[in-house]
Amino acid sequence: MNSLDDSVSALKGVGLKKQEALSELQINNIFDLLLYYPFRYEDFQVKNIDDISDQEKVTLKGTIASEPTVVHYGRRRNILNVRLLVNNIVIKVTFFNQPWLKKQLPVGEDVLIYGRFDKNRSSLSGIKILTSINNNKMSSIYKVNKHIRQTTLKDIIKNAYENYQKCIQDILPTSLRKKYKIEKLAKVIHDMHFPGSKRDAMLARRSAKFNEFFIFQMRLQSLKSNKTNNGIALKYNSNIINSFIKQLPFNLTDAQKKVIDEILYDLQSSRQMNRLLQGDVGSGKTVVAVLAIYACIQSGYQAALMAPTEILAEQHANSLANFFKNDNINIALLTGDTKLSARKELLPRIENGEINLIIGTHALIQDAVNYDKLGLAIIDEQHRFGVNQRKKLREKGIGTNILAMTATPIPRTLAITSYGEMDVSIIDQLPSGRQPIKTAWIRESQFKSSLPFIKNRLNKGEQIYVVTPLVEESEAVDMKNAVNIYESFQKSFENYYNVGLLHGKMNDDEKNKIMNDFKENRLQILVSTTVIEVGVDVSNATMMIVFNADHFGLSQLHQLRGRVGRGGQQSYCLLIADPKTEVGAKRMDVMVNSNDGFVISQKDLELRGPGDVMGKSQSGLPEFNVGDPVADLTMLNIAQQEAILIVSKKSWQSNPENKLLANYINHANEKIFD
Ligand code: ADP
Ligand code: MG
Repeated sequence: MNSLDDSVSALKGVGLKKQEALSELQINNIFDLLLYYPFRYEDFQVKNIDDISDQEKVTLKGTIASEPTVVHYGRRRNILNVRLLVNNIVIKVTFFNQPWLKKQLPVGEDVLIYGRFDKNRSSLSGIKILTSINNNKMSSIYKVNKHIRQTTLKDIIKNAYENYQKCIQDILPTSLRKKYKIEKLAKVIHDMHFPGSKRDAMLARRSAKFNEFFIFQMRLQSLKSNKTNNGIALKYNSNIINSFIKQLPFNLTDAQKKVIDEILYDLQSSRQMNRLLQGDVGSGKTVVAVLAIYACIQSGYQAALMAPTEILAEQHANSLANFFKNDNINIALLTGDTKLSARKELLPRIENGEINLIIGTHALIQDAVNYDKLGLAIIDEQHRFGVNQRKKLREKGIGTNILAMTATPIPRTLAITSYGEMDVSIIDQLPSGRQPIKTAWIRESQFKSSLPFIKNRLNKGEQIYVVTPLVEESEAVDMKNAVNIYESFQKSFENYYNVGLLHGKMNDDEKNKIMNDFKENRLQILVSTTVIEVGVDVSNATMMIVFNADHFGLSQLHQLRGRVGRGGQQSYCLLIADPKTEVGAKRMDVMVNSNDGFVISQKDLELRGPGDVMGKSQSGLPEFNVGDPVADLTMLNIAQQEAILIVSKKSWQSNPENKLLANYINHANEKIFD
């Protein structure tokens, strides 16, 4: 019996070599192959000259009206010229370096020629001569690698379709297909690969996208609903939590209260928490984490907080120690730089539960670190960690509740795709009294003219960050760049103000010394490579200057900008950039015109595409085969709503209409899916 699960090697003509080449394209079984859709088509349908736009690739049908001539020029280069009569219009046709075509173009012959049309010159730059087999067809173009050719892949797919078309069943429930006019899968697959017309191809693509989005969403939603009753239920005393909130140095914002409620609710339930906390820079995520940690420790469990850099981990350790100064909580800081002797002393105390709160970097997830009862793990700036690191922390305890925090607002589109299995809490409000940061973009050549403005800030007793990104391949060159900028600031201000330099090559003691000097205002200007990107909190700093600003992601720039404007004073951000492209210039304009992290990341996504914004490997962002989560957002939303609706019915799996769907989803989710 044929089955779509059959290996591609079951096909005639697919031996070990081709199997390997296909496997490189992630094609292993017949179903993979059938779903390996073309990414575009060559349209061989004959068109009327009037309907063709300039530079369009088209097929013309006409009669050869002149003897073809070949002119040689340079070394081994030549051009073939011939006139083609199309509906009484003479078209000049040229072929480069294909002199042998001359024989196929005798005067008076009717031919089909595919090429690029130039409307002004009434000419066609020929690509190939078509035979009647190609006539009026759309030809699929696939992504291939160097081990397999277009035509070979096409033949293999054709072969698979012919032998297996009877096995193709619809995974989508019929009612859903009817509701959204989705074609049957067998037809979708046929028309994607071998469309009879542009319209067929378009309709098939629409259905294929829906199939893909819906199945993806079903996987997420069913994963989400599976996670029940396997978490640690934290039984804290809400009176104690409330009195803790009362003694905080500020009043919580409504947004903070709302997300704290959501998190505390999750913590006391036996459903394992898996929650993403999103909040713009400066929105006050730390105190939310503090309350979750407090509830966890009150319930007799340990909590861990993992940050992406040593500086940030240390800052968290200090500020949390301050939050908990009246409570009997043992806090440990564990980073890559923790001395061996200190580590030796800490690890057993973590393992026997004496330490209540462990703050650190990646060091927290090393194999040697064992926890006693880890009730809550918090990941700060979670987008800076890889999927595996997040997973490792989660697995340090059984049923450990997870809170991932991020200031990089994930655009709605991406939130649906990459974090669909997490619950999301959003802090959509800044603490009161913050003024929006004023942002300007200037060219590097204009920098000198901004010096008086900078001096003004300093004269008022305020402090300034100066950031330079990684620009060159080599760290040495970047260092030099930062050093140059540092020296030029020193030159400009040396008699009045102190300038410090912070870069990645420094060891931790040096970094901390500089950071502390800045915090205590012994340094007024801090020049830094991107190490200050996350987290640090100096409320007297009112200006952020970013060199080569176009080398940053917009969300990163927004985060950098969020380092200022933390006190009551008006703050400023000066972007210095000479972008080489129009998109680059538009991105700078986005920064100048918006202070809203969500808007910025959505715009960045539109301008650059998802891969660039998040970095595919670290976002864990799924790659869709046909669907585009940005352009097809509406459809993605609909697919999500339908999937949620289905999964919300307890017995959905036993409904006969969903039998195939349930099988497929369960099978797919058995494979790793993080
Ligand atoms: P982020 O969300 O970027 O991590 P933080 O938690 O570091 O922000 O908070 C930024 C600053 O705002 C800190 O100095 C913090 O003490 C302060 N803060 C947090 N919540 C409030 C509030 N409700 N009112 C006033 N200040 C607050
Ligand atoms: Mg923070």
